[in-house]
Amino acid sequence: MHYVRLVIVGASGRMGRSLLENAANMEHIKVVAAIEHPGSEWLGKSIHGVSVTGDLSEHITQSDVVIDFSSPESCVRAARIATESGVRFVSGTTGLTEEQLDALAECSHQAAVLHAANFSVGVNILERLVELASRASGEGFDLEVFEAHHKRKVDAPSGTALFLGEAAARGRDQCLSDVAQWARHGQVGPREDDEIGFQVVRGGDIVGEHTVFLCGHGERLELTHRATDRGIFARGALRAAAWLATRRPGQYSMSDVLFEQ
Ligand code: NAD
Repeated sequence: MHYVRLVIVGASGRMGRSLLENAANMEHIKVVAAIEHPGSEWLGKSIHGVSVTGDLSEHITQSDVVIDFSSPESCVRAARIATESGVRFVSGTTGLTEEQLDALAECSHQAAVLHAANFSVGVNILERLVELASRASGEGFDLEVFEAHHKRKVDAPSGTALFLGEAAARGRDQCLSDVAQWARHGQVGPREDDEIGFQVVRGGDIVGEHTVFLCGHGERLELTHRATDRGIFARGALRAAAWLATRRPGQYSMSDVLFEQ
């Protein structure tokens, strides 16, 4: 039977485990290696039936796609190792600098690369809807983005809130950095018509909630996504990997996976 051969980088992390667990139930996917950093206590142990090792290069020729959920440095290193061998690369690692994103773009000349800050199918559909709603609503509607996450999250607003904010700005032919209102406190004065405000909640074990408000006169549209299970990101990344396995070199997005005809 034909299946896609995967290597998972960051295998013992929260996402790595979820990927291994979900992949174990998919007939069209086979995980051929699980990679951790060379000092990991998991080396030589097995997670969901796959033995953990420390050297991606050793396994690269047996794989079709590498999926990475690790750290920014490790992501770029893995991308180079994979694409130099013509192996496609999927990554959900967040917090990459501009230089690191440029490095991924460079890698995509050799093999297909898909990097996404959020692999949820629902969030990526929401992003399309937000751009559409922002464009259609036009002047007279104020845009605000709300997000809530668990108390351990260290960055704010979330990468997904920024992703949605960018879609909202794009819908109005604006650049988010020109119109974003990151915080309001004290005598901030009335709201500017074209600003896009961000509101952040942190607490408990909230997996992730995002709402884009379009507030008009006498009506309000709220576009909401609620994540209740981290498995959505793993399943989205596995879907992306299976899709990417037959693609030519270049940079791809979840939008390509979901909306390509
Ligand atoms: P985590 O800390 O639980 O796991 C990261 C794993 O990567 C750890 O096990 C760590 O040992 C491993 N690692 C670090 N350096 C490595 C190296 N050089 N080689 C191999 N493995 C290495 O974190 P997590 O919650 O699994 O998240 C990982 C990344 O994915 C973060 O950047 C997070 O923000 C991001 N994330 C993205 C999405 C998405 O949909 N795009 C969803 C959830 C998390």
